[in-house]
Amino acid sequence: MELKLKREALLRRQNLIGGEWTDAVNHACFPVVNPATGAVIAHVANSGPADARAATDAAAKAASDWRARLPRERAEILRRWHASILDNAEDLAALMSAEQGKPLPEARNEVAYGASYVAWFAEEGTRLYGDLIPQQQRGKQMRAVKEPIGIVAAITPWNFPMAMITRKIAPALAVGCTVVAKPAEDTPLTALALVGLAHDAGVPAGVLNLLSASREQGIEVVGDWLADERVRKVTFTGSTAVGKHLARESAQTLKKLSLELGGNAPFIVFDDADVEAAVAGLLAAKFRNGGQTCVCPNRIYVQSGVFDAFARTLAAHVGELHVAPATDPGAQIGPMINAKAVDKIERHVRDALVKGATVLVGGRRLAEKGPNYYAPTVIANATSDMLVTSEETFGPVAPLYRFTSEDEVIRLANDTPYGLAAYVYTRDHRRAERVCGALEVGVIGLNEGSVASEAAPFGGVKASGYGREGSRYGLDDYLSIKYICQGGLD
Ligand code: NAP
Repeated sequence: MELKLKREALLRRQNLIGGEWTDAVNHACFPVVNPATGAVIAHVANSGPADARAATDAAAKAASDWRARLPRERAEILRRWHASILDNAEDLAALMSAEQGKPLPEARNEVAYGASYVAWFAEEGTRLYGDLIPQQQRGKQMRAVKEPIGIVAAITPWNFPMAMITRKIAPALAVGCTVVAKPAEDTPLTALALVGLAHDAGVPAGVLNLLSASREQGIEVVGDWLADERVRKVTFTGSTAVGKHLARESAQTLKKLSLELGGNAPFIVFDDADVEAAVAGLLAAKFRNGGQTCVCPNRIYVQSGVFDAFARTLAAHVGELHVAPATDPGAQIGPMINAKAVDKIERHVRDALVKGATVLVGGRRLAEKGPNYYAPTVIANATSDMLVTSEETFGPVAPLYRFTSEDEVIRLANDTPYGLAAYVYTRDHRRAERVCGALEVGVIGLNEGSVASEAAPFGGVKASGYGREGSRYGLDDYLSIKYICQGGLD
């Protein structure tokens, strides 16, 4: 086997339920595959509804003790978990790169970034203030107190196998919720290692339960949680189609929902922008994780005065990106997650070319490198009728659109059902204010390509979902407010 860990025990193959490592009830397994080579890394539990129910039972049993603990007692455990993640960072990064394909330096960054949510929410959970409402009547006092919402079901995608989990689990645990969780079929190993470290750091049995499942079985697992009255909250990161399905299904039991869904980010470069800075920002935002991020610029609008200079500089840089497996020390772009992802990229580029786009660099599958590689690509003359405009490509393809006026580009940028992130490059402060105000998104990078931070509220509007993760706002989704009106005080 090609994966070498310092602590072999971090390669977990079983579910964590009620503090015990267990096989699926029916002992079924499924393979986890390295997308760089197609080799099987491990076989893990293929859970079903009975396992889901056992996890919810465990979370229910652990709930009252966990919510009764002092916030600083919970914080102490989270801090130990945080320290343990950092102690095992190299192994976690190796696991993540092996199952997800991102280059090792990116995986190391994600470990640090994912861990930062644990540290942040350990602190933030101790600052959960309620309100004493200014008195309205004599003899009456009114208070609003914040309480943990109850059992949380967390469902996460494959593109950030660690950070997507910690930014859900850490706030839930910090405020006193118990958790049942399911990672994506493609990337369960990082998640299993992570909850193992949480368990070893002192998260009590049943407080955090995690099940792996294949795509088909995962639907059953989540279906069981959606139908269970005891699960009070679903937090989901993934596609808009699945998010809508969860919203419909969870209506039966009226759960609180957070949905971090797909994006279709515009990246806007005005004539007055620093072109070098804009290219650097685009390289960071577009090509991280091979273009498989929800905040990836999907549509790059460049004003006509700087279009040629921007396109030339960008294509030169993109042509130099090193495509290689995660283990290659110089790798900048790894494999895509699976063959389906490469097929989608090919379909998008083909459609663009048929409709009049031209390839400036890249534009082809790199079959000689392995099963799932696609060349970093820049295409010019993109237009609104192309698939690259209306759908997330989720790959290393940057389509360039030429625009002339501010009004025009605002209209084009907002002409999508999605509203997650946008990027704006301009040196005119009044323009920056106008454009930031007009964009229908939840996150904006203004002269900046890297927007993620545990201290910032992350989330979208429109078909990109609702709820916020990270920052002090990230606690709200795991809380309910109880109003207490006390009389007889006169
Ligand atoms: P996905 O297909 O929606 O899957 C996300 C999760 O839901 C996975 O655990 C998946 O399991 C599970 N799932 C799939 N179908 C389900 C169903 N019918 N019922 C219950 N669970 C189901 O999304 P993805 O392709 O993995 O991830 C890419 C998408 O996530 C992109 O649209 C991206 O923009 C979005 N994303 C958004 C954010 C954000 O913060 N807004 C962050 C990252 C990614 P399986 O993997 O086993 O199918």
